[in-house]
Amino acid sequence: MERVHNFNAGPAVLPEEVLREAQADFFNYKGLGLSVMEMSHRSKEYQAIIDESVAVIKRVYNISDEYEVLFLQGGASMQFLMVPMNFAFEGKEANYINTGQWSKKAISEAKKIGKAVHVAASSEDRNFCYIPKTWELSANPSYLHITNNNTIFGTEWMIDPTTPAGVPLIADMSSNFMSKPIDINKYDMIYAGAQKNVGPSGCVVVIVKKSLLESGLTNIPTMLDYRTHSKNGSMYNTPPTFAIYMIGLVVKWIEDFGGLEKIALNNQVKADYIYKAFDQSHGFYKGTVDVEDRSLMNITFRLPSEDLEALFINEAKKLGMIGLKGHRDVGGCRASTYNALPLPSAFALAEFMRDFQTKHA
Ligand SMILES: *Cc1c(COP(=O)(O)O)cnc(C)c1O
Repeated sequence: MERVHNFNAGPAVLPEEVLREAQADFFNYKGLGLSVMEMSHRSKEYQAIIDESVAVIKRVYNISDEYEVLFLQGGASMQFLMVPMNFAFEGKEANYINTGQWSKKAISEAKKIGKAVHVAASSEDRNFCYIPKTWELSANPSYLHITNNNTIFGTEWMIDPTTPAGVPLIADMSSNFMSKPIDINKYDMIYAGAQKNVGPSGCVVVIVKKSLLESGLTNIPTMLDYRTHSKNGSMYNTPPTFAIYMIGLVVKWIEDFGGLEKIALNNQVKADYIYKAFDQSHGFYKGTVDVEDRSLMNITFRLPSEDLEALFINEAKKLGMIGLKGHRDVGGCRASTYNALPLPSAFALAEFMRDFQTKHA
């Protein structure tokens, strides 16, 4: 076996073509006699690499010049802190929709730095098995923050919500970034840890409206102020140079795949294989979320017992399918089917699910 069927939630599978291209250029990048990791981030060769990574993200997401694309460190988790630090104004409330573990962490960071927080809606009443369809903002919202795809619970927003004029919409898209076309103009800021859908860990992509940046709070520690990174083209300090290069290659792969329409179609086909396997199982496999809010990226399900779940995960591993254990906080099983997961991997899992059921039902 050359490659496993990789259902890891993150870091996750990368496109084979990208790994091979990076490998070919690894030792001696484009004949320059050094690897990307060994380049000065101040060199013109590296500048060309980061410029292309920004440019390809803008092309694929159709992002206008009203927005900046930044590459930051500290993961999506650091954004939980930076967002309220920069944009939660005195006398206003930071609004959040709570759809699971990651939303909770975002809320908790805002509170830790003493910001007023308003939870505009929550799906905690049913253990986060759905996406709220209505929400109520506070009197003076500084922004509304949502988690577009809930990596742990397996739900995904099927719409881009709208906010009243003057209320920025800020989104954690870590686990469905670039998985389907979206109307960027509905968002004032999007952030995503690269390691789910567009690259290796160590870098978070931030897409932010320039007008929001300009309106932000001042007197923020240098590294935590978005303007620092915007003014310096994401190179105030040494950026994660190799990760930014890899992100550029992955997004170029998306572009060459046919763009986000094609990627979304492919993601739908993969998810359908697997969801169908449990919809046709007469209850042997039980989905954990409401059908209408099922994520196309993280497919969560239970078997009749924890023993069978352990056996399922073990047997799958013997067939080269890895990463099927649910998040440690929720248990059960989870198949992550990000952009780069090949179609045959999703097919193989669906087939295995049917075989396993026949043997153990
Ligand atoms: C993985 C994940 C995070 C955390 O990302 P880090 O880069 O590890 O900090 C945050 N939000 C969502 C939705 C995630 O899936």
